[in-house]
Amino acid sequence: MRSLSEKIAGIAPSATIEISNAAKRMAAEGIDVISLSIGEPDFDTPEHIKEACIDALRRGETHYAPSTGIPELTAAIARKISAENGFSASQDEVLVTCGAKDAIHQAMEAVLNPEDEVLILDPSWVSYEPCARLAGASVRHHALDSVAFQVDDTLLEAVGPRTKMIVVNSPSNPSGAVLDADSLRLVADICSDHDLYALSDEIYEKLVYGKEHISLASLPGMTERTITVNGFSKAYAMTGWRIGYAVAPRPIIRQMEKVQQHTVSHPTTFAMYGALAALQGSQDCVETMRREFERRRDYIVPALQDIGYTTAPADGAFYAYINVGGDDMAVARSWLQDAHLAVTPGTAFGTPGWIRLSYATSMENLKEAVARIVRI
Ligand code: PMP
Repeated sequence: MRSLSEKIAGIAPSATIEISNAAKRMAAEGIDVISLSIGEPDFDTPEHIKEACIDALRRGETHYAPSTGIPELTAAIARKISAENGFSASQDEVLVTCGAKDAIHQAMEAVLNPEDEVLILDPSWVSYEPCARLAGASVRHHALDSVAFQVDDTLLEAVGPRTKMIVVNSPSNPSGAVLDADSLRLVADICSDHDLYALSDEIYEKLVYGKEHISLASLPGMTERTITVNGFSKAYAMTGWRIGYAVAPRPIIRQMEKVQQHTVSHPTTFAMYGALAALQGSQDCVETMRREFERRRDYIVPALQDIGYTTAPADGAFYAYINVGGDDMAVARSWLQDAHLAVTPGTAFGTPGWIRLSYATSMENLKEAVARIVRI
């Protein structure tokens, strides 16, 4: 048989999924595994969102929709951006996608050529590099400082002649860091000076604890060069719905729309009505979940520090990122085998020596996890 795609063969499978699969296998064998390895809220989707989707199904919203998404939803997203994110967007600057991940993939397909390079700030979420490679581009990594996890002047040294796009993720998966105004200003200056596009992944924007989320596109000169990616998975506990979106200048959205038209067509029609209800309904459910995540963070981060671990900021998202000072892969393997605790090694995020623990699980599980770590 002839060999398969070299491009795909060169892409690593998602390490986060591999580990959670190993944990699931152990759980299926009857082992009492606590999984702190997966990145999704443990809450159910709020009832009014489910009802809106069921109503849409009953009404017969079971057909093709416009390829940018149902107009009510693109309009609601444009309104949300203009009201909350410090820059204005019109409906035709919005594309509804099959999750934020799809928006990232499409944005890279829409912007990048094979000679281009994407600058990624480590620690970084696992799919940025594969998405850049799927789009045929190459990747350069730049390490953020490992105390505050903010951007400093050294970022400039990472910009090369082929750099075309920089990826920013705040609040960050895995570090929990929220980029401050100075960091974002440095990114904006570099983008303006070197004519770079920015992809700003703001999927955790609603999950911040005592910090302010700032959208990169709200900085002077950035609206015209930023693709803002967001979605419903984290804020509304809708991971399985697969609804996300991109907000970007029209020429970029038009390019992304072509990718969407020729691949998935558009996200599931009736699911988009659920997302519409999420934006139009009361936001109390978001705040209730945010508060519960904060309560868990306030337990797990000091508990890990008491054991002796150095932790990343944990100002947002739902991850504690701890420095284990050695071979993180070996540590994650041994925690799974010996303590039946599934965590994600920092190597998956470009920062060996660190471990990510998701606190999107019950307080009871977190307490048991801490007890097991103490016993190791
Ligand atoms: N960006 C980051 C930083 C994430 O953590 C995730 C989900 N783990 C995504 C994007 C993708 O989210 P979605 O479910 O909307 O595709």
